[in-house]
Amino acid sequence: MEMKPDETATHSVADRIAGLERSMIRYMFDSAQAMDREDLVHLEIGEPDYDTPTHVLDAADEAVRGGATHYTSNAGIPPLREAIANKTERDNGIRYDPETDITVTVGAMEALHLALLTITEPGQEIIIPSPAWPNYRTQAVLAGGKPVEVPLDTDGFQLDTKAMIERISSETAAIVLCSPSNPTGQLLDAADVRAVADAAAEHNAYVIADEVYEGLVYGGSKEAIASQVADRDRVLTVNSISKKYAMTGWRLGWLAGAEPIISEVTKIHESTTACASAPSQHAALAAISGPQAPIEEMKSSFRERRNYVDDRISSIEGVQCPRPEGAFYAFVDITSVAESSLEAAESLLYDHGVVVAPGAGFGDAGEGFVRLSFANGLDRLELGLDRIEEFVEVNR
Ligand code: PLP
Repeated sequence: MEMKPDETATHSVADRIAGLERSMIRYMFDSAQAMDREDLVHLEIGEPDYDTPTHVLDAADEAVRGGATHYTSNAGIPPLREAIANKTERDNGIRYDPETDITVTVGAMEALHLALLTITEPGQEIIIPSPAWPNYRTQAVLAGGKPVEVPLDTDGFQLDTKAMIERISSETAAIVLCSPSNPTGQLLDAADVRAVADAAAEHNAYVIADEVYEGLVYGGSKEAIASQVADRDRVLTVNSISKKYAMTGWRLGWLAGAEPIISEVTKIHESTTACASAPSQHAALAAISGPQAPIEEMKSSFRERRNYVDDRISSIEGVQCPRPEGAFYAFVDITSVAESSLEAAESLLYDHGVVVAPGAGFGDAGEGFVRLSFANGLDRLELGLDRIEEFVEVNR
């Protein structure tokens, strides 16, 4: 007998998925797409506006034509793991064993997902200093954990160490730290990181260190979180080529940490993705071990844009932001000109033609702010900031 689909049946979606919130950044992006206005200025996007360096494209082309079109070992091709180990030793002063301590993943997103899945028992807490990149929250839920937001210090967006340490307990699986931060653009203070990592280690919890913006720092010194702590074995470092090398679409990252965790992580990777894309692994190898001049040029233009955005925001009476130290975000306090960050973002979009990300999308502690991305040419930034100035003048 032919089985017919039951028209009345409802689809059953697991509660943990049905309950996931959609990103407010995506909401703003979709709202902008739905508008019939062509001259919008997009300051909500979180990726470099540059293309992948040419020598990387050439290396990937050569690799694909040479047969790099098959599965690779689960943990990634050995020369790439070796290159990541060398990079980490050179830039961060940490020697990971490429055989046992590094696994190559589909972007930092998969590295984070694998780390959380591996160390989180059902219902355990994942502590997230807030405001933070929204995926930490959703990924904590996907791993069966309970996200717990601890607000950053509002004065400068540093860790509130007292509040963090009080919150860490035997229920804590991990604390996620990101420096420089998305969305605040701030570097975390090393002494605070150490204090929080010590408290985590006392409770056998891990620090997940998200270093995806480590290559985009415009002043001061940036040390890797893993090199700032007393017990490096309790830090799992998430990193990728996405932001530093303008290679978001290649989807290539890695997780580095102690062998007992990485070997388990590789087990999950084996049954979900098998391996990161072979062509992307070869491209990453060229990016990490090839000439760094194109990256330095990109970074210096980000620094110029950071200076421009910071100067413009400082000159607008009624709004302010801490000077971004890294990444490509300015987190602007709009409390004196709008009731909420969503209201500000919607008015900026519908009345002034500029798209920004509402701070509330980065956690409750982000309310009262909007995030501007300066991954945009100076001409677009100028137009966008003119429109923001117009918005502030109307609402001040
Ligand atoms: N971590 C942070 C803080 C991010 O902002 C992003 C992307 O926006 C990622 C990780 C994801 O990086 P990837 O493209 O390597 O998955």
